[in-house]
Amino acid sequence: MVKHSSRIELKQSAYKNNITFIRKKIGKDVLLSSVVKANAYGHGIEAFVPMAERCGIDHFSVASSFEAEEVLRVCQPETRIMIMGIIYEDDISWAVACGIEMYVYNFDRLQVVLDAAKKEGKPAKLHLEVETGANRTGLSKKEFGKSLTFMKRHKQHLIFEGLCTHLGGAESFSNQFKIDMQKRRFKEFLKECKSRKIEPNLRHMASSAAALTMKDTTYDMVRVGVAQYGFWPSPDVYYTHLQEVNKKSDVGLKRIFTWKTDIMDIRHVDQGEFIGYGTAFQATQDMQIAVLPLGYSNGYPRALSNRGHVLIKGKKAPIVGLINMNLFMVDISHIANVEVGDEVVLIGRQGNNVINVSSFTNITQLLNNEMLSRLPSSIPRKVVR
Ligand SMILES: *Cc1c(COP(=O)(O)O)cnc(C)c1O
Repeated sequence: MVKHSSRIELKQSAYKNNITFIRKKIGKDVLLSSVVKANAYGHGIEAFVPMAERCGIDHFSVASSFEAEEVLRVCQPETRIMIMGIIYEDDISWAVACGIEMYVYNFDRLQVVLDAAKKEGKPAKLHLEVETGANRTGLSKKEFGKSLTFMKRHKQHLIFEGLCTHLGGAESFSNQFKIDMQKRRFKEFLKECKSRKIEPNLRHMASSAAALTMKDTTYDMVRVGVAQYGFWPSPDVYYTHLQEVNKKSDVGLKRIFTWKTDIMDIRHVDQGEFIGYGTAFQATQDMQIAVLPLGYSNGYPRALSNRGHVLIKGKKAPIVGLINMNLFMVDISHIANVEVGDEVVLIGRQGNNVINVSSFTNITQLLNNEMLSRLPSSIPRKVVR
């Protein structure tokens, strides 16, 4: 098979560490659903899901039926998949037939799912999402009452698998009043279930930030995305943890992701010459530069032109000139014995140096999640110990 111009490695031991860390926070009885939307936040569903399963994960959450199918293709038969976002009507029968769990966030959807469940001869597992204050998707109180009646009437076809909501901004202290309101409203929905004598198998609202900091949000399941990949959702969450363990610093979560390429060519550039397109970089002295075989079309942000670094032989090599579509150049004048084919780390550790996603995103103003999820799915991903 021909080689791609860059590659991503996922470190299983780091992932195992993160799961143990999260598990400690949430306790052993709470189900941990691994959120793998956006191609597992850029880590690559195909490699990530089997690795997560080896670390004990058996529930995955995705944003669409397309992603659910990607998980289904690589997961174990007993693994559970939950779609939190869009399912086109045409795909509902497929989801029911495959035993995929799904969010329902409007009343009309219930009849469609009921028809599919009857047609497939298989009950549908539904998570009723309720509106508590994020105002994106979720059943209003009025719709919820009707929905419970409907669920009760058709309970041989519709399984009340979950009652859920999404907290909008639990990673930031300044949102506390809003999160408190969401928690209160969620409890009201739960009360309504109780009084109508129809209760969900699972209650869930917490994603990473709440799972790590708010015990009263973990209920029966948490949906953890960013933290399992080794990123703190925010400084607030990190400092809350430090306070809890009474330490000045703590690694806690570890990045599992390394993005690598190789040196494509090395050349000498005379003082006064320009490097790459235009006049963005002029050599102030005689220089040795390395050419790297990827660019913005491969997910490397163009905003790092003349600003970012890569790691070569454990040393930082500054980017010189503009990031091209498929190439960029770095200064290696200060690094000895560099050869064509040498390994280059774009994100991750090499020797004693590390390039974090955040050092990228500070410059580019992208969110960590945004940067990661934009990495092309065509880059090969591989699991390493
Ligand atoms: C993305 C998402 C999550 C995971 O959020 P993280 O902050 O990455 O843990 C959980 N629930 C829903 C509904 C989501 O869309």
